[in-house]
Amino acid sequence: MNTNISGNMNKALFIDRDGVINREKGYVFRVEDFEFIDGVFEALKEAAGLGYKILVITNQAGIARGYYSEMDFHKITKWMLDEFRKKGVEITDVYYDPYHPEYGKGKYRKESLRRKPAPGMILDAVRDHHINLQRSVLVGDKLSDIEAGRRAGVGRLFLVRTGHPFYEDEVPEGVEIVDNMNGVVKMLHD
Ligand SMILES: [Mg+2]
Repeated sequence: MNTNISGNMNKALFIDRDGVINREKGYVFRVEDFEFIDGVFEALKEAAGLGYKILVITNQAGIARGYYSEMDFHKITKWMLDEFRKKGVEITDVYYDPYHPEYGKGKYRKESLRRKPAPGMILDAVRDHHINLQRSVLVGDKLSDIEAGRRAGVGRLFLVRTGHPFYEDEVPEGVEIVDNMNGVVKMLHD
């Protein structure tokens, strides 16, 4: 039994990036290709207002594949965080995994316990930000996002229709399917 009752009190909204925050265009790393999905600023602002810490959890196999560098990723991330800040949205942290088990080049070719569907990034965020998983939610556009959330033990799992297409009959039971981030936040009020 966990006797540390003073810890792990924060609730989090774990959010995938491509297909949830910005339009899925395949390995986005340039500002000019980064297109925010309509309504995402308002939705995240509202989620923060409901007390959720916003934690971005993103696989970045484009780094492994050599399409762009970790420096490129940090640059676009800084820009993204600034854009959110201008709209009054504070993103608490961003976690990324730059590896790929098959297509990674050099040091980036490896099986990573952080790459979704593995739960490593979520578990790191839980430790770093004292997150209560049961009170938290995860939003993704792929079943691998959902799988990572399920393995970590996130309380509610949402799949949005703004990104990668999926077949509804492949979606595991208990996963909530909504059109977009605004749909997620509506459900959080219930
Ligand atoms: Mg995605």
